[in-house]
Amino acid sequence: MTIIQTANLGFPRIGKRRELKTALESFWSGKSDESALRETAAALRARNWQRQKDLGTDILPSNDFSLYDHLLDTAFMVGAVPETHRGASDLDTYFRMARGAGEVSACGHNHSGVTALEMTKWFNTNYHVLLSELKPSQTFELAHNKPLAEYVEAKALGHQTRPVLVGPVTFLALSKPAIGGFNTLSLLPRLLPVYAEVLHSLQDAGADWVQIDEPVLANAPGGQIALALTEAYAHLVREVPGLKLMLTSYFDVHDANLDLAFSLPVAGVHVDLTVRPDVLEKLPSLAGDKTVSLGVIDGRNIWKADLNALLARLKPVVSQLGRVILAPSCSLLHVPIDLAQEDKLDSDLKSWLAFAEQKLEELAILKSALSGEDVSAQLAENAAAIAARKTSPRIHNPAVTERVANLTPPMSERQSPFAERILKQRKRLNLPLYPTTTIGSFPQTAEVRAARLQHGKGQLGDADYDAFLKLETEKAIRWQEEIGLDVLVHGEFERNDMVQYFAEQLEGYAFTQHGWVQSYGSRYVRPPVIFGDVSRPKPMTVDWAAYAQSLTDKVVKGMLTGPVTMLQWAFVRDDLPRGTVCRQIALAIRDEVLDLEAAGIRIIQIDEAAFREGLPIDPAGWPAYLDWAVDCFRIAAAGVADETQIHTHMCYSEFNDIIRAIAAMDADVISIETSRSNMELLEAFIDFKYPNEVGPGLYDIHSPRVPETEEMVRLLARAAQRLKPEQIWVNPDCGLKTRGWAETRPALERLVEAAKTMRANQ
Ligand code: GLN
Ligand code: ZN
Repeated sequence: MTIIQTANLGFPRIGKRRELKTALESFWSGKSDESALRETAAALRARNWQRQKDLGTDILPSNDFSLYDHLLDTAFMVGAVPETHRGASDLDTYFRMARGAGEVSACGHNHSGVTALEMTKWFNTNYHVLLSELKPSQTFELAHNKPLAEYVEAKALGHQTRPVLVGPVTFLALSKPAIGGFNTLSLLPRLLPVYAEVLHSLQDAGADWVQIDEPVLANAPGGQIALALTEAYAHLVREVPGLKLMLTSYFDVHDANLDLAFSLPVAGVHVDLTVRPDVLEKLPSLAGDKTVSLGVIDGRNIWKADLNALLARLKPVVSQLGRVILAPSCSLLHVPIDLAQEDKLDSDLKSWLAFAEQKLEELAILKSALSGEDVSAQLAENAAAIAARKTSPRIHNPAVTERVANLTPPMSERQSPFAERILKQRKRLNLPLYPTTTIGSFPQTAEVRAARLQHGKGQLGDADYDAFLKLETEKAIRWQEEIGLDVLVHGEFERNDMVQYFAEQLEGYAFTQHGWVQSYGSRYVRPPVIFGDVSRPKPMTVDWAAYAQSLTDKVVKGMLTGPVTMLQWAFVRDDLPRGTVCRQIALAIRDEVLDLEAAGIRIIQIDEAAFREGLPIDPAGWPAYLDWAVDCFRIAAAGVADETQIHTHMCYSEFNDIIRAIAAMDADVISIETSRSNMELLEAFIDFKYPNEVGPGLYDIHSPRVPETEEMVRLLARAAQRLKPEQIWVNPDCGLKTRGWAETRPALERLVEAAKTMRANQ
């Protein structure tokens, strides 16, 4: 008889009502002290353990909690703390690493004093980790044994837990070398003794298993990582005999890495079977005497699993294995906590969804079914929900399916090539050399946000709210005219968020009230849910754009969020390929583009901020992704006449890998974020001989700092050395919604000055 248990790999830390955010912000602002923060954190952990146990989870994680980020916790654990960041207390040091010290801008960036560690996305998720910088002389010590502290804390509450560690190889692979040519993996021999010490302490305290996450296994198999993993696990298993390690991979795993994982002397291996379902049947031959952990429930999405289908596949495999653990595919950090809190979602939709707690219930049902217990009622209920979703008329809109099926290559083609279009556009737009513009949004002041909130609560009527927004827009137009910008924007005052604003007006999207997931630290996002075929019942932005254009003779740029970004920043239905969902959105945006054009808007910007982050982890998957992503942009953009100019905008991207795709998008103008890299990011465009027009961002909008005119002239001159002057636009790095007017005004005045200087020097 197979032994079957359920496990969780990690529970969301933020609290059902975002208690952690509240506690952190109160602590940071000095309103409460360290003990209050620690109390809230401990209460959240206690609640999470108990709740997971109540939901039938056999193996509870500990050390999955973090005040900010688990990679930062790891750096802190091993004493990788830069001297510059040492603060008055441990907690102070920790937050100096997380957030910097000194003046911190609205978005959490810091531009004076001690800067925060660099952030990067945790593989292909929307969660950001903090990267330590390591130097060749780096040494490690067991500085903070948080894994032990949380293990002991759980034990005192009556819970035997399986502590979670970020593996030593993943930690080093994600660290930044302090100098070029230095490989952080070479520090492994110095790091392993610290890991062994932590594992020893856990074993002494009573732990029998430890979960070690090595998501680097998702990366392309490579010699150095493989060698490092081999060395690491030989060392740890030798040094801490008797303690069982569950080597945990997720998000993806190559065959070669799978073989490697099972060849290591660890006691168990966890595999994400939602990205690699095909691996399931191979497990009996791979497993040997290892315990396998089956990542069967999707930890990245919010859909109910098809339990009956899963059982049909699991049964024959499980009976061949001696011991199995049923688990989510990855930590549940990436999904909201509890669907039961959503009392505004309609019952249909609600019956199709599962958040973290519901996913743990699904695991318990699977375990019962596989153990021969009677869960027929639960299985029948699940089957009914799955069937209802499949056939629901709310999901399926035959007109949308047909439109996507009937897409033809000409729909992705502008009428003429760029070289011809641009001549017609220049004639029509009549802009000076180095035309100036902004990326779209203007300061979302306290006043603007208060008005939106009041309107949402019904305290401010539609007409009053509308009048308020019109006035803000008019002020913005007048002010842009005054300072002499060439291409104006309406300011986006009516938008709560660049995705949500559109999602709320499209069919096929739904919204949660409490569906928050951590993006980084205390910043959480609430992604909309794409549950059905997407269509646009009526124009979304035309009134605002047309109103703004009616106020001025200057060109007002229409402002839209692109299909890839609309997809990327949502929870996406799992019953259609992502490319198909994206094409549906692309068609909706295309309609909007054409309506804007018909309303007299001569320049239309389609933002694709999330274009790069859609790239799969495995470069082998890049061509397929880029293929549909580029096509979706082109579908959205290509319906217009040659004379209508299409802009796009991308922030915080590394462009080298995708420059070919960017060129294939064929936007007439692209604005990018370049100021923080001192124009280095522009190199990709230069090397590629990018033919269309480019607006390299001239100042960092993350900081309230107002740049000098000369700085911007210098950056422009650098760009002009390598690009043709008539190719260059003059704009900030990104939208200005997080800034105040106090710095926005002088910054843009100087930006206009900089363009004038360039023209005069021509
Ligand atoms: N138009 C948007 C704005 O200006 C673009 C923001 C973005 O790409 N992140 O806010
Ligand atoms: Zn941007």
